[in-house]
Amino acid sequence: RAKDDGKNTFHFYSAESNASSVSRLTIENGLRRALERNEFTLLYQAKLDLTGQYIIGAEALIRWQHAELGMVSPQEFIPIAEETGLIIQIGEWVLKQACRDAYAWQEIAGRPIRVGVNISARQFREDSLHKVILDALDESGLTPDCLELEITESMIMQNAERASQMLQHFRNLGTHVLIDDFGTGYSSLGYLKHFPIDSLKIDRSFVRDIPQDADDMAITQAIIAMAHSLKVKVVAEGVETQAQLEFLRTKGCDQLQGYIFSRPLSAEAFLGMLRFDTARRAGRTYAHGLQFAE
Ligand code: C2E
Ligand code: MG
Ligand code: MG
Ligand code: MG
Repeated sequence: RAKDDGKNTFHFYSAESNASSVSRLTIENGLRRALERNEFTLLYQAKLDLTGQYIIGAEALIRWQHAELGMVSPQEFIPIAEETGLIIQIGEWVLKQACRDAYAWQEIAGRPIRVGVNISARQFREDSLHKVILDALDESGLTPDCLELEITESMIMQNAERASQMLQHFRNLGTHVLIDDFGTGYSSLGYLKHFPIDSLKIDRSFVRDIPQDADDMAITQAIIAMAHSLKVKVVAEGVETQAQLEFLRTKGCDQLQGYIFSRPLSAEAFLGMLRFDTARRAGRTYAHGLQFAE
């Protein structure tokens, strides 16, 4: 009996690991060709000003459509792209595409519209990143002020000295720096004040359980207050309900992103929304709060 159990267990595990190593290999090989096959696209999720309720910009979120695997989530392929180093080329493509798209937006909106680009840890370690950003700005014609680099807390904490240098480079270029997933990396704002940062994004895990979770509400409120005392703007991500929105508004949160306003959209659909937003803004602010999600 014990033997049988052992066998079953063994079979179970070997089947599992086989399955995952096959798809991992498929992903890895697929990633190597994805750029030349044009399989990546960028979706854009609006960032909204919480007091005026208008679109400030959007975050670029990569999507990969693989011939056999279908849509592969970035949560799944970005880590593999990191390990294999493929993220360097992919990240360059994202930066250039996002800058090109954003350049078109301001023509339509008649005001600066900022695009956020997620930078991976591996990209951040490359000295060439500075040049890639410069090229992306040059080639697109986008004003540096309209590019917002989203980096995570842990990327800063891994190597503070280097991070400080890199962020200073970005500051000199005139781009914005946002700390993504804030609150998950065990750093403090007191620590982050030593770095040139424009804004921070409160992680969705803190927003999700507002208004049920009193601790999350206290933490969110404290983050907003401390950030403001350091002249850092605050974005909340993953806002889905009116109650979350109201809480964030009363606590003075500056910007929001979330399904309550819009899911990530194709560049075309985002542009349509921006047109609508611009027309609305010329008239009045939204009469019914944030009700025009696509
Ligand atoms: P992130 O930068 O923290 O992006 C936020 C994620 O939350 C996105 O998932 C977005 O679609 C999702 N989201 C936004 N609003 C809501 C909401 O109201 N409710 C819920 N439940 N989810 C919401 P996505 O697009 O799957 O991206 C996941 C992660 O993959 C990103 O997290 C980022 O770390 C990474 N990623 C995405 N695009 C890129 C990229 O171009 N380069 C790099 N290096 N990483 C990327
Ligand atoms: Mg992000
Ligand atoms: Mg985030
Ligand atoms: Mg997040």
